[in-house]
Amino acid sequence: MFNLILSTMSIFTACLAFFVTEAFSQTVPDSVHALVVYACDADDHYRFPQQGMRDSLYSRISSFYKTMSYGKHILSFEEVHDNGRYFVSDHPADYYRNHYDRKRHVRGFGMFNEEILNKVKARHGDAVFQSVDIVIVVGTDAGPDWYVRRANATGFGMLGCDFAGGGKLFKRGQRQGGLTFEMGSDVGTSNPDDDILLKLADIHWTMAHEYGHWLGLGHRSNNLGIYSLMTLRRQAVKGTPQFGPAPLDPFHIMTLGWLNEDDSSRVLAFSVDSMDKQVVLKQLRSLTGHVLARVDLPNQREHIYFSFHRHNDNAFDNVYLDQGLLIWQKKGVRLKLLRRLDETADHQLIHTRQGKLEVSKIRVLNDKIVFRVRQISR
Ligand SMILES: [Zn+2]
Repeated sequence: MFNLILSTMSIFTACLAFFVTEAFSQTVPDSVHALVVYACDADDHYRFPQQGMRDSLYSRISSFYKTMSYGKHILSFEEVHDNGRYFVSDHPADYYRNHYDRKRHVRGFGMFNEEILNKVKARHGDAVFQSVDIVIVVGTDAGPDWYVRRANATGFGMLGCDFAGGGKLFKRGQRQGGLTFEMGSDVGTSNPDDDILLKLADIHWTMAHEYGHWLGLGHRSNNLGIYSLMTLRRQAVKGTPQFGPAPLDPFHIMTLGWLNEDDSSRVLAFSVDSMDKQVVLKQLRSLTGHVLARVDLPNQREHIYFSFHRHNDNAFDNVYLDQGLLIWQKKGVRLKLLRRLDETADHQLIHTRQGKLEVSKIRVLNDKIVFRVRQISR
C-alpha cells in the first residue's frame, strides 16, 4: 500500500493510517472541542503561521463539518503555542524519523507528540486539557519517512502516544486521543508564493481528512476521486481557486449518523417492481427533502444509489467542476462511483448483476434534479 504514496508532488496530499477499518456506523458526539498544539523539530526554521491563517483553518474545518452534518456536528477549537512560536522538540527530526520504541510500541512521531504535550502541560498547566475532547498536533513539514518508512504523508489520524491530561487519557490509536498533521513548508511566510493557495488547500484537506479518521472513517478507493474526502490521496482540481477538502461522500455521512438510510423523508428507496420511475432529488447538502435515492435490486447485496451534486451550493461543494447526477454502486461494503451525468446525457445504461437500468430525461431545476429510471432487462 505504501508504494502508492511515494509521490511528493505538491498537488497530491497523502494520508497514512494503520489499521484502517471502519465500523458500520459510528456514535459521533454532537459537539467536539479540539486543542490545537503547534510544534516543530529542533532543526526546523519554519515561520509560525499568522493568526489570520490559523483562524481561517479553524473556521473552515468547523464550517466543513457543520455543512456535511446538516448542522448536527459542531467542532470548536482552541490553540496553544509557545508565545507566538512553535513548541520546539528537544531533538532534530532525524532523531524521531522512523524511530520505533518496541518496548512501549511508540513510533517516532508518537515520541515527538509525547514530548511536546509534556511541554504544553509544563507551560499551561494540566487544566488546559480539561475541556478538550481531541488533541491535534500541528507540526511543520518533517519530510519523507517521518510517519512510516519509505513513505511521505501530510498527516496521520492518530496521536501515536498515550497522554494523560486534564483528568483523562488521550489514547494513541485511531479514533482515540487525537491526530497529527503537517503544515506545508511555506506556510506562515509573509511572502506567499504562487502555490500558497494550493498549500492552504492541502492543509485544509489534510485536517478535514484526519479528523474524519478520528470520527471513525476509513479510506475510500481513489475511484471516488474528489467525491469523497476519504480517498487515500487527494487530487487537487487545478484552476478552482477555492478548492480545499473534498466533501464527504453520502455513505460516510450515513456512517456518521448524519443521514439515516431508513428515514424515508431523506432517502428515497424504490424497488424494481416500481421501475420506470420519475425521481426528484434535492442537492445533497439540502436540509430537507430527499437527498439520496436507492434502487433495491433483487440481489440484496447490490444497490444502486443516486445523488445530486452542485458545485455552487456551499464553499466545499465547489471542488466539483459542475453539477450533475452521481450514480453509485454498493456491493456489500464496496462502494464505487459508476457514472457522473449532466443534462446532456441521454438514455444512459447502468449495468447491474440483475440486468440493465436506463437513466434518462435528466433535468436540473434550481436545487433539484429530475430524472427517470427504468429497468430494461433482468
Ligand atoms: Zn487517511
